[in-house]
Amino acid sequence: IKKPNKPNIFLPHLVASVEQVDQTYIMIKPDGVQRGLVGEIISRFEKKGFKLTGLKLFQCPKELAEEHYKDLQSKPFFPKLIEYITSGPVVCMAWEGIGVVASARKLIGATNPLEADPGTIRGDLAVQTGRNVVHGSDSPENGIREIGLWFEDGEVCEWTPVQEPWLKE
Ligand code: ADP
Repeated sequence: IKKPNKPNIFLPHLVASVEQVDQTYIMIKPDGVQRGLVGEIISRFEKKGFKLTGLKLFQCPKELAEEHYKDLQSKPFFPKLIEYITSGPVVCMAWEGIGVVASARKLIGATNPLEADPGTIRGDLAVQTGRNVVHGSDSPENGIREIGLWFEDGEVCEWTPVQEPWLKE
């Protein structure tokens, strides 16, 4: 897994034009799988132009769900969240691209689907925070951490899509 490129701190005026290639961990939660939304959700990231580097259907063990959501351990909804995430198979994905972490969060929409904008995945496909169909990493650091957590060595592929010259000038 590539580490994110650091912006050049000696050229602050150029920082905005630095094209940082990030990695993000996207997961279709058990409700998304059960509701037959796998293809629809993958399509949104594919069509945007991001690169899929890892993909698997996976029954998540309780310990992994707890590790993934450890920052939310003290929340009252934590036990229900772990029950939800382990209630059926999830689709684990690693995606790569310029600004992919922030852009994927925009494509996904707000945590509460009723507050998520139309056009976003949650805005279009869900109604409840406790059934919000998809996860996306909230920072490039967490993208790398979560891909490391959910994928084994060798499960993430390095490859060059043929469309790349048509996506990046
Ligand atoms: P996000 O997934 O948008 O990054 P958070 O990190 O705040 O949101 O929460 C992680 C997940 O925990 C949410 O996607 C949702 O599945 C669940 N969650 C958050 N808040 C609540 C809540 N108040 N009630 C039930 N589940 C919640």
